Amino acid sequence: MDLKKSKRGTASVWAGEEELFQDGSSTVPIVNTVTYAYKNLDEWVDVALGKKPGFIYSRNTNPTVAVLEEKIRLLENAEAATSFSTGMAAISNTLFALLKPGDRVVSIKDSYGGTSKLFLEFLPKLNIEVQLCETEDHEQLEKEIAKGCTLVYLESPTNPTLKIIDLKRIAAASKKAGALVVADNTFGTPINQNPLELGVDLVIHSATKFLGGHSDTLCGLVCGEKSLVHKIFQYREITGATLHPETAYNVIRGMKTLELRVNRQNENALKISRFLYDHPKISRVFYPGLDTHRGHDIAKRQMKGFGGVLSFELDGDYESVKTFLHHLKFVHLAASLGSVSTLAGPPSVTSHVELSEQQRKKLGISESLIRYSTGIENSEDLIDDLKQALEKI
Ligand SMILES: *Cc1c(COP(=O)(O)O)cnc(C)c1O
Repeated sequence: MDLKKSKRGTASVWAGEEELFQDGSSTVPIVNTVTYAYKNLDEWVDVALGKKPGFIYSRNTNPTVAVLEEKIRLLENAEAATSFSTGMAAISNTLFALLKPGDRVVSIKDSYGGTSKLFLEFLPKLNIEVQLCETEDHEQLEKEIAKGCTLVYLESPTNPTLKIIDLKRIAAASKKAGALVVADNTFGTPINQNPLELGVDLVIHSATKFLGGHSDTLCGLVCGEKSLVHKIFQYREITGATLHPETAYNVIRGMKTLELRVNRQNENALKISRFLYDHPKISRVFYPGLDTHRGHDIAKRQMKGFGGVLSFELDGDYESVKTFLHHLKFVHLAASLGSVSTLAGPPSVTSHVELSEQQRKKLGISESLIRYSTGIENSEDLIDDLKQALEKI
């Protein structure tokens, strides 16, 4: 099936579905096997040597998992894709596969908590220098990149204050310096943002979030240029951070509704942001879709929708945050994001709990900040819910 010219909603449903399974099954079979038997030794050898397509051992490749990889490959318009057991496995395997002692990485201060830990603790141990820049300071990023580096690691929008980086601008600066550019597109989703089309070399997703979409599955994906993806795949074959076929199936099923869900979540988040922005008990709203947001102009250029996550500050202390959150009905007070149901919580006790109040302040995370990841509920109900909970403080 040639899906090159089809739109992303169509590709989400059909990509990879028919190439591998010729038996007419209309959903992807979960191939729960570790190993693949051959009747003919010569054929086995050909597959093992990569002369013929086929499967040998499921730590390396599996037909169900291959369908998922084909879906993200097409959605991000990439040459190749590979998968991992979690988003952090995708990120760490990518960094460890591509970097060596003596290399230098330039990134931002606001990257995902686990990624930050790799930058601050694990890479320095291997004698890899990491320079973290102020997230929205494009001049500083360009200056550090121009000093020379192996890899530039970006994320936009960021967690939890939705800062925006001009991916095209920083990718161009990286190219000039001969550095590889990797972007975490978890918050963007392939529906709203396609970093490869902006000059980025590799895109990473925590498919645990929007791609899976139902808070029932951990998964990571990497896609981009073939030789780079192959290098990362070969590293993963050995680290063994492999995605299980049953898990792959959950993500495949989730991805079929990706465009529907993300469009709805974009709409919900924009409406909710506008409602909160006008509310007297809310002091600040962070959402790239608001034209008061610092990164709005860049976001408008590089995103087709502004995503399902927003954050806001209550005009009050941590006690008011508690009262407010306890009165919300249509929300799970939980970590994570991108699910069909709304999830909310204060970053001060979830994603950034390991930092001191002072360190959080530096990142613009106040004690009254709440991250809100809209689900696919009706926006009227979510807004009514927020309204009544705000009345309680
Ligand atoms: C959740 C998340 C990750 C890590 O993904 P896991 O699947 O939990 O390992 C990485 N990056 C971003 C932006 C995330 O939100």
